[in-house]
Amino acid sequence: MGPTHAMSGAAVGLAIAQVLPAEWGGVTTAEEAFVYAGLAAGAALLPDLDSPQATVARSFGLLSQVASRTVENFSQGFVNLTRGRRDPRCNNGHRTLTHTVWFALAAGAGATALIGAYGKSAVIGLLFFLLSLAIRGLLPEWSKKSDWIVVTGTAAGLAYGAWYFIPAASLGLVLGSAVTAGVAAHLLGDMATKRGIPVFAPLVPLRGRRWWNLRLPRFLSIRASGPADKALLLVFSVLVVAQISLIASPPLVTALGW
Ligand SMILES: [Zn+2]
Repeated sequence: MGPTHAMSGAAVGLAIAQVLPAEWGGVTTAEEAFVYAGLAAGAALLPDLDSPQATVARSFGLLSQVASRTVENFSQGFVNLTRGRRDPRCNNGHRTLTHTVWFALAAGAGATALIGAYGKSAVIGLLFFLLSLAIRGLLPEWSKKSDWIVVTGTAAGLAYGAWYFIPAASLGLVLGSAVTAGVAAHLLGDMATKRGIPVFAPLVPLRGRRWWNLRLPRFLSIRASGPADKALLLVFSVLVVAQISLIASPPLVTALGW
């Protein structure tokens, strides 16, 4: 589901970029909107860091494998530490701690805090990290065929370009909101699968459970990697292309009277 998650992050990112308040130092040019969407697309892969098979866990070789195992183990321990009396014992941390609304907020706040503390070097680091993920998520075939140096070099080039040409994108609040938007898009996608995710865990107990899963009504739920996953990828791709054409051609927007 990696590509579907990344594409949903890009679609949500483009939509939010168009309505962000200007007082946030917000997104005012087409280039800024695209960078914002790229960051959200990358962030939309972050929750699956708790699964060693996921795109995000394979993106930076041994380093991301170790990070992934650490996150998975930590999440498992955290669930067992906080579970309610009716929650079953957790044997695998996938789809737990990083699949909550609290993680979405913390990831965005963390990015904003990093930028507050380290300024430009944090901005360029985050741009590189998230755009690397976005490339692997949005262009999975190309990324698999190409040498990792090519993929990493492309991400570095994009990150430098974004940082150099778009100073407004360096504002912490804007960048942090792109991260939260991307993670939230991922959570919505997983909520649409049959298993659901523990969105409010462990803070909201329900009938003796703290790690209960929230899912969409049965008729709306899909199977990960099934045909519905492919259909969703197509829908999000269309939404991305449509929004890019709208953002890139203001005359069209004027002509349509928006
Ligand atoms: Zn997930």
